[in-house]
Amino acid sequence: MSPKTICSFIPRMANKVKTDRGVTYRIVAIAFSKKNNFLGLAMNGFRDFMSDGKGKGMHAEMKLMKQFGKQIDRIYILRVGNALDALPIHPCDNCSKVANKLGIKIICLHEEIEDLNKYIKK
Ligand SMILES: [Zn+2]
Repeated sequence: MSPKTICSFIPRMANKVKTDRGVTYRIVAIAFSKKNNFLGLAMNGFRDFMSDGKGKGMHAEMKLMKQFGKQIDRIYILRVGNALDALPIHPCDNCSKVANKLGIKIICLHEEIEDLNKYIKK
């Protein structure tokens, strides 16, 4: 998939964060199939409070893997601060392990796209 195509999804991802005030940042993930079809978008709960046992704190990429499983080829993850600035994010060990098992690649948008903020701040 071309960078241009993936960039077209970034405002949509950031928009999810805009509607959710009162947190310091959110992580948004989008999944694509092997045929480059958009499968879905998910946002994590509070990454720092993972252990409420209800899946509320589940990581965005994990939500997508639970929902779409092996249909997924790649997941792009983006962390957006409450000032709508792109922040670095990497998948945790647990999500990486599940992704490996399913043959899914997790791509960090801040490493993939130069000047991410250009697509977020409008
Ligand atoms: Zn994770």
